[in-house]
Amino acid sequence: RSSAEKFEFQAEVSRLMDIIINSLYSNKDIFLRELISNASDALDKIRFLSLTDKEVLGEGDTAKLEIQIKLDKEKKILSIRDRGIGMTKEDLIKNLGTIAKSGTSAFVEKMQSGGDLNLIGQFGVGFYSVYLVADYVEVVSKHNDDKQYVWESKADGSFAISEDTWNEPLGRGTEIRLHLRDEAKEYLEEDKLKDLVKKYSEFINFPIYLWSTKEVDVEVPTDEDETSEEEDSTPETTEEETEEDEEKEKKPKTKTIKETTSEWELLNDVKAVWLRSPKEVTDEEYSKFYHSLAKDFGDDKPMGWSHFTAEGDVEFKALLFIPPKAPHDLYESYYNSNKSNLKLYVRRVFISDEFDDLLPKYLSFLKGIVDSDTLPLNVSREMLQQHSSLKTIKKKLIRKALDMIRKLAEEDPDEYSNKDKTDEEKSEMEEKKGQYAKFWNEFGKSIKLGIIEDATNRNRLAKLLRFESTKSDGKLASLDEYISRMKSGQKDIFYITGSSKEQLEKSPFLERLTKKNYEVFYAAGGLSTSIIVSEIWNTACGK
Ligand code: ADP
Ligand code: MG
Repeated sequence: RSSAEKFEFQAEVSRLMDIIINSLYSNKDIFLRELISNASDALDKIRFLSLTDKEVLGEGDTAKLEIQIKLDKEKKILSIRDRGIGMTKEDLIKNLGTIAKSGTSAFVEKMQSGGDLNLIGQFGVGFYSVYLVADYVEVVSKHNDDKQYVWESKADGSFAISEDTWNEPLGRGTEIRLHLRDEAKEYLEEDKLKDLVKKYSEFINFPIYLWSTKEVDVEVPTDEDETSEEEDSTPETTEEETEEDEEKEKKPKTKTIKETTSEWELLNDVKAVWLRSPKEVTDEEYSKFYHSLAKDFGDDKPMGWSHFTAEGDVEFKALLFIPPKAPHDLYESYYNSNKSNLKLYVRRVFISDEFDDLLPKYLSFLKGIVDSDTLPLNVSREMLQQHSSLKTIKKKLIRKALDMIRKLAEEDPDEYSNKDKTDEEKSEMEEKKGQYAKFWNEFGKSIKLGIIEDATNRNRLAKLLRFESTKSDGKLASLDEYISRMKSGQKDIFYITGSSKEQLEKSPFLERLTKKNYEVFYAAGGLSTSIIVSEIWNTACGK
């Protein structure tokens, strides 16, 4: 197109696209949930703006906050359209190609060392997964502040942007058109798409429609139909007679033929899991909800969750999850970011997932949602941030989060008796075995940081600490266990710090204590500087 402006992809983005294009990854399905997730984000954004300015939604169909999927079997195009916030020309240039996010190179690195493509969404580059199935992609977008534009690329290092003078006007929002590769033809099957939406996008909070074509039986009048006029004019009959008459008439006068019709079919049932009663939500549903919330589509289930309603002056519902693994960048920006991983809703409306200070930093590894009935809806994010109920919400969230972690520790028996246990109970316990050690491995550092940061909850946190010791037999021991094993008359808890357990084991200081049969904690590892550890110990001993 003559009016098209050409742009080079930023180098890292280009590398990422090469990796995706050439990937032998077999689970190509993931592109759909990434696109639906982007559509949902865009809808959340326009809905949020509409809280303070109704006009932004526009009129008629444009105001409908929904997602539509359409297939063109002949042209081999799959399109996904939303009526979300849309992208201006500048947004298209920046968001889809010229600005690399922090996750871009992290993801490229991961992929080069054999990482799982499934995790693409967590790195903030999910859009590019379209090139798993398409060799040419068009993004048509209309933002309220700009004209309609088309972004297009064949993933050959560059993309083009043109003002859209040929497509149907979108009103507002974005339509992504995937020109599918030959080997991705299965995504032109309606059943395949229905399955995928069920599997991955069940918990999207906007309706997802598929333009679906059905063969239906239609009854059409046969030629003899003309006679009916006569019958119609027959004067009054009793009810019974009429019914009988009609039945007799219908059969000879109509016939059934096959006809194809198309209509929008709703694929999800737009239910907010957190609004349901915990009793009604199955473990599998929690697990699936976690995956879609955290964009973490690994095979692992979350380690735990807490679903509760807070009542009183400040009312809210919350659902917190302990992820199965720490994200790649958990401690990277620890000291200059206050970002929690909770999504804040006010009365079912998504407000933000970058809300500062819903949880303290050390708990920022948790994922979840908070839906408040107390917070006001029609104020700016900045004003919300100042709202007095937030303190209460935060306090309750911390309490519940620590409870959840404590339960994880308590339900994780190192050894347990199999006596009087049903098979189901046994396998459940088997599953929980070692869970806390796993937790400690992934997030133990956060608990240690919590000890320093959160004086109010220091005692609760101290109970969650685990270290190996000279008597723990390669396992992790808690302070309570240590105390229960103390020699009579022993007043101190001993620990030794250093870079690794192997190094500590050789220490002459250690030998002096173990000779006297004292138990000594190994405090090895990066963060376990003696200052931190002694602070922990002092707390634990009530000093
Ligand atoms: P992420 O969704 O994690 O930000 P993506 O690679 O999926 O990363 O998308 C990149 C960006 O492109 C998004 O942050 C958003 O700004 C923009 N974008 C993608 N799809 C849409 C859409 N349907 N509507 C509006 N903006 C979109
Ligand atoms: Mg995305």
